[in-house]
Amino acid sequence: MTDASTPLLRVRGLRKTYRSGDALLEVLRGVDFDLATGEFVSVVGQSGSGKSTLLHLMGLLDAADSGSIELDGTRVDGLSALRRDRLRNTAIGMVFQSYHLLPELDALENVLAPLMVRHGVLEWLRVRREARDSARGLLDRFGLGGRLRHKPRQLSGGEMQRVAIARALVTRPRVLLADEPTGNLDEGTGSGILETLCELNRADGLSIVLVTHDAAVARRADRIVRLAAGRVDDAPDAADPAARRKAG
Ligand code: ADP
Ligand code: MG
Repeated sequence: MTDASTPLLRVRGLRKTYRSGDALLEVLRGVDFDLATGEFVSVVGQSGSGKSTLLHLMGLLDAADSGSIELDGTRVDGLSALRRDRLRNTAIGMVFQSYHLLPELDALENVLAPLMVRHGVLEWLRVRREARDSARGLLDRFGLGGRLRHKPRQLSGGEMQRVAIARALVTRPRVLLADEPTGNLDEGTGSGILETLCELNRADGLSIVLVTHDAAVARRADRIVRLAAGRVDDAPDAADPAARRKAG
């Protein structure tokens, strides 16, 4: 059951330990995290604190050792590979630091790829015109209307990241998970990408989790949570030094 108070994402007691040889590395030691619908949250923490691990678990790219993840009130951890892939193709959009575009496909084809995966060949013939229109619409909106036929190697970093964001959104996901999306970009280009994310949140009500080690980047979100020692510290005042001082 969902109602207005059900978080879009609800993570409870998430634990993840990596094993390499005899060594155990407890990266997440019981993480609790909620994302409300329409909320824009940054997850910060030192390098190695488990930010990417947490984001990958929420994006169903990897499985936790224990704990639960609910999307819209429904458990999504522990699904079969097929149902997990289906959810990742419909409900969850992901963006990575290094874009992960397919080098042989042009910008438009990269954005269309998730929709081609979703529909079978025959169905694709029926829906492709509409799919192209929405992919083009997104690329236009991100200022890439003149780059539809460019391959990734013919695009700048900022352009590649905007293609990647368009690809993440073409499926109309419930949530966008972004892992250091400005990490490979110079400051000006990075702020352009952040501006795009803020605009998607404000204008479209897109729910966003943004992972970053950069405090200035994190401050663009509505709320900041900090990962440290494998757990989440809610730091609602972290964006506001005055509030932090008041809180002592
Ligand atoms: P962050 O994104 O905060 O920098 P990560 O989640 O990538 O941190 O990694 C957390 C810790 O887990 C790091 O010490 C990293 O080396 C380790 N780690 C990440 N992925 C693996 C893996 N697949 N196998 C073993 N150790 C890993
Ligand atoms: Mg990381």
